[in-house]
Amino acid sequence: MSSPKRQRIHDATISTEHSHRSSSLNRAATLSESEPVQLSPQDQNGQFAIKDSPKTFRDLGILESLCEACYTLGYTTPTAIQAQSIPIALQERDLIGIAETGSGKTAAFVLPILHALVNQPQPLHSLIISPTPELAQQTSKVVEALGALVSIRSELLIEGLDMVSQAIVLGEKAHIVVATPGRLLDHLENTQGFSLRQLKYLVLDEADRLLDLDYGPILDKILKILPKRTTYLFSATMTGKIESLLPACLSNPIRISASTERKTVPTLSQSYLFIPYVHKDTYLIHTLNERAGEMAIIFTRTINECQRISIMLRHLGFSAIPLHGKLSQSEKLEALNEFRLGSRNLLIATDVAARGLDIPSVDLVINFDLPQDSKTYIHRVGRGGIAISLVTQYDLEIWLRIEAALGRKLTEEKLVKEEVMGFTHRVGLAQRAAVREMKDLHD
Ligand code: AMP
Repeated sequence: MSSPKRQRIHDATISTEHSHRSSSLNRAATLSESEPVQLSPQDQNGQFAIKDSPKTFRDLGILESLCEACYTLGYTTPTAIQAQSIPIALQERDLIGIAETGSGKTAAFVLPILHALVNQPQPLHSLIISPTPELAQQTSKVVEALGALVSIRSELLIEGLDMVSQAIVLGEKAHIVVATPGRLLDHLENTQGFSLRQLKYLVLDEADRLLDLDYGPILDKILKILPKRTTYLFSATMTGKIESLLPACLSNPIRISASTERKTVPTLSQSYLFIPYVHKDTYLIHTLNERAGEMAIIFTRTINECQRISIMLRHLGFSAIPLHGKLSQSEKLEALNEFRLGSRNLLIATDVAARGLDIPSVDLVINFDLPQDSKTYIHRVGRGGIAISLVTQYDLEIWLRIEAALGRKLTEEKLVKEEVMGFTHRVGLAQRAAVREMKDLHD
């Protein structure tokens, strides 16, 4: 597969309360290199509209050594969220960035922090709070990759790693700490000599997810301990919960939005199969058989289904690996690695496990179970070139709601029933084997 990372950068819609207009990386590339980024006046809501997108990171005002690191990583053109937020972040203004995983949001906050750090180095300069250990690990890798040429030290404070060895490294004073809320508070309260009194930058990454995971009270405690600093808050959506968190953590923030429309990319091909519930497994196997060898993610609603489908697929000779919330962190990362490196081409995932992880773009996304809301649907299918949803007689209402949110009817794929049913016997055997293994798992 060709560079999956690059495919994940979507064109984004830059919007304010009053205007909606499109900007793409291609369009940005047509501007002259000397053309500065022009921001229109801030409106009453504190949102800026960007006039023209810059062509390079240099145009954005980023230090040369960091620009070089960007090019080394293949970041030649800033993504929409980077083009919009970096010039503002460099002014040390508080920022709210509405952008989701895949938009390039991590570099959008890591680059300005590194830029400030190089200009004024100090220990415990910045803190990045992530909702999950996996996301924290990915963010820390981005920090290290972008900071490779400027000798920064970062430290990861997450569950699953040893508290004592973390405390020892903290004593050596990293420049940037990437942490999950629970473990961070634990260290702030219990690790002698660890204080963030000198902190200059705070990032709340995936704030919607932080609050969905009920980290609100822990965040309140952390925010009370932190000194006055520059704060960037990034979130895929702006929820009521986030709005109520804002006064405690940001001062006079500027809002930037790279994805308020939340529409799927136009090149994505989306269709559905309307099928009887009892034959769901058989239709899945038929579909996978038709597309043998493609890299696919199959979404299920529950952990149980995720495990059952993975086992059933393996019994049928497919190369499948499950990813769900009951797996330990290292098991999740291992599963993702096997998938990313191609030793397994089918990833069976629940939404909770998949969200926030850097899952590569794939050929095919199958909604084995429909998601409960259109936002999750868009999130899921955004990862693939082709998306197929299995819609049964019990899913009609939710399916109509998803279509209504997308603003159009999707194509129904018609299959020859006899051809599909040819798989019934083998699927039946694999189903029974899966049930037996599941029973052993639970006993
Ligand atoms: P993120 O939204 O931060 O999770 O980034 C999604 C993916 O985009 C990551 O794999 C990054 O390595 C990649 N990426 C970030 N910025 C750029 C850029 N300017 N050009 C190309 N790829 C990028």
